[in-house]
Amino acid sequence: MNEIRQLSHFINGHHVPGSGSRWGDVFNPATGQLTARVPLASADETARAITAAATALPGWADTPPLRRARVLFKFRELLERHLDELAAILTAEHGKVLADARGEIIRGMEVVEFACGIPHLLKGAYSEQIGSGVDSWSIRQPIGVCAGITPFNFPVMVPMWMFPIALACGNTFVLKPSERDPSASVFIAELLAQADLPNGVFNVIHGDKEAVDGLLTDARVAALSFVGSTPIAEYIYATGSAHGKRVQALGGAKNHLLVMPDADLAQAVDALIGAAYGSAGERCMAISVAVAVGDVGDRLVAALAQRVRSLRIGAGIDPAMEMGPLVTRQHLDKVRAYVDLGVEEGAELVVDGRELQVAGHRDGYFLGGCLFDRVSSAMRIYREEIFGPVLCVVRVADFEAAIDLVNAHEYGNGVAVFTRSGHIAREFVRRVQVGMVGVNVPIPVPMAFHSFGGWKRSLFGDHAVHGPDGVHFYTRLKTATARWPQDTASAASFVMPTH
Ligand code: NAD
Repeated sequence: MNEIRQLSHFINGHHVPGSGSRWGDVFNPATGQLTARVPLASADETARAITAAATALPGWADTPPLRRARVLFKFRELLERHLDELAAILTAEHGKVLADARGEIIRGMEVVEFACGIPHLLKGAYSEQIGSGVDSWSIRQPIGVCAGITPFNFPVMVPMWMFPIALACGNTFVLKPSERDPSASVFIAELLAQADLPNGVFNVIHGDKEAVDGLLTDARVAALSFVGSTPIAEYIYATGSAHGKRVQALGGAKNHLLVMPDADLAQAVDALIGAAYGSAGERCMAISVAVAVGDVGDRLVAALAQRVRSLRIGAGIDPAMEMGPLVTRQHLDKVRAYVDLGVEEGAELVVDGRELQVAGHRDGYFLGGCLFDRVSSAMRIYREEIFGPVLCVVRVADFEAAIDLVNAHEYGNGVAVFTRSGHIAREFVRRVQVGMVGVNVPIPVPMAFHSFGGWKRSLFGDHAVHGPDGVHFYTRLKTATARWPQDTASAASFVMPTH
């Protein structure tokens, strides 16, 4: 019998047990075992977390940026010290392989490192003598209580796209992580407390729609960052905006990788295998469509098929594995149903992962890598986000057809081209209607000092996350104009001042 842990919220510097009657189940996806029960916050519990953040706000906003940065420096050191422990928590609840879990944490840590430079990032602009004896300057001030609502697929990195910058800018924060893998967020809250973050500056409440609706409608929440599926992103954006909040809501994706006839095929295949099947395809930047341009299709599919059949799939804690299970039984059923659908729709299932059995893990949520060829743009397996280890190959005649295909898709998160032609690469970057573009790079996730965000129905709102956009999102612009007249003469003016 495994011990079933009871998780708690983290409010005002303390673990707070769930007081309501609603609970969610947390499983180890590699074994199918129930490992924890997570409280689903009521509206009252959510309000309590917001109260803690609102109470802590004036003191934290007044703390000099350099001192706020020092807390983040300490937090970064603690993250590094506890990297393996945190990676194990991720693998136990998400299922991704340990090396990938470590990679996720390090990518999150990079945002902390960026946020440590906040005294520099918050420097404003100053214009001397904009009129006779008049100066003007712009500053960025904290926006207030911020909330983050995050998905299951990056339980550490996605929250860290948000709160390090929000806190560095002088805001306080309430995180509502995914209820499917919630333990990492409380561990992070504990590390922040150890780093001497004052109580109430960072809070975690677990929950589902009820908690989210509390954050969306409470007047004390000034800004909301969301990452998750597109229908929920759209709901968050519409509801949060209607309640007067600043909102950034990142949604789903269907990322294409173009293989041009002149590409280095071995490199393109390696790139596709990692980008399509890494983390079992549960990445918003995963490549789920390979676009075979010109006559490259037969060679590409043959090479891919061989590699997909030999993927090493098993429990994420086994360092020999390349791919772990899907996150939950429901998600496994959903992805498997998409594979059934693709067959019904007439795509050619070149590699069928549906019958995979992982020895010793009969109840784990495993699905073998699946590869479809001759997928058309009318099929649902092409149009919809599957979010599993399923790669669709679409064959097109030429580069123009490939660009049209990508640009017609409703999502615009990430995209890549593999080619040896500088001209094709340049045309592609310029014309493609997607927010993050790779040239011979399959997953072009921007580094922490740039900003991450898609186009079209992959992002609702004006700001991407982290980097310069992150600092803008979590601050309000104030511009002051001042003069210090030495004479006492004064006269009312009824015209617009000109200089
Ligand atoms: P999800 O939309 O189901 O859940 C995301 C968050 O919203 C969770 O915290 C969840 O509790 C909450 N939520 C769910 N239903 C809700 C409702 N009806 N009302 C209010 N809140 C609700 O997403 P997921 O399955 O956890 O994550 C996978 C999705 O996230 C994929 O679509 C993926 O593409 C997307 N994603 C996008 C990015 C990006 O950068 N664009 C990054 C990571 C993940």
